[in-house]
Amino acid sequence: MSHSPFRVEPGKKVNLSHWPTDETSPFKDKDQAKPTIKKNLERLIELQELLYASASHSVLIVLQAMDAGGKDGAIEHVFSGVNPQGCNVTSFKVPSHLEKAHDFLWRHHLACPPKGMMEIFNRSHYESVLVERVHKLVPKEVWSRRYDQINDFERMLTAENTLVLKFFLHISKAEQKKRLEARLEDKTKHWKFDPNDLTERKKWDEYTGAFEDALQNCSTEEAPWYVVPSDHKWFRNWVLSDTIVRAMEKLNLKYPPAAEGLDDIKIH
Ligand code: ATP
Ligand code: MG
Repeated sequence: MSHSPFRVEPGKKVNLSHWPTDETSPFKDKDQAKPTIKKNLERLIELQELLYASASHSVLIVLQAMDAGGKDGAIEHVFSGVNPQGCNVTSFKVPSHLEKAHDFLWRHHLACPPKGMMEIFNRSHYESVLVERVHKLVPKEVWSRRYDQINDFERMLTAENTLVLKFFLHISKAEQKKRLEARLEDKTKHWKFDPNDLTERKKWDEYTGAFEDALQNCSTEEAPWYVVPSDHKWFRNWVLSDTIVRAMEKLNLKYPPAAEGLDDIKIH
């Protein structure tokens, strides 16, 4: 069985400079990809309804990226058609006092999807080995043991019928510059401009190192990481929709059996 070229093979070393950010293959351009993306989004709607109806599995989609990497746009586009009743988004911010008082996985476990539901993590438990590591919010002996703890947590989720798919939206530093500048130029985007993103940009290399470790330590057969070339938003949307649809097809979801005697029922 061949895996997606964007999947991080479990146990393999990750050097992000070798992973493209501006890939477009197998497409020439956005117009050529459009019908395929549309088909994927339609199929995702069907699969989500099947997930909801069968209520045997749940789906957890983890989105991580550098600032302006396109998490919000991906959510807006890829999940645009799905029934809001069966899909939830949780955006993880700086932990509250209560959240900090608990173990690092607590708030994430609380947000995990029950059977039948699809859940998108906009940032995730991985922040505990990214921002917390880069900003030295916890000492090395704490963050370094978290990779195993995360793998154990995700293994438990998958054993309990949660499909876990993790996506790193990979943009170049030049693309981030372009996107941050665009936010400055457009008044309707000013709310999205966080001066703090400039401080984080200065730590690009430290974040890259932290992402590489997270990807190589936590891409498992059960819960793989995908590195999504994301300089082109349409390509990002294609990779995401294609990967999610393929993985959900493999669940082989079935509608639950109908109640007995439906054929004989007449509605008067
Ligand atoms: P985003 O930046 O994801 O598009 P946003 O701009 O709407 O979202 P922010 O206020 O920037 O929201 O919230 C996300 C912030 O929360 C990020 O700066 C991130 O580093 C921080 N954060 C998330 N998880 C943690 C954590 N475990 N510890 C410390 N900071 C965290
Ligand atoms: Mg932000």
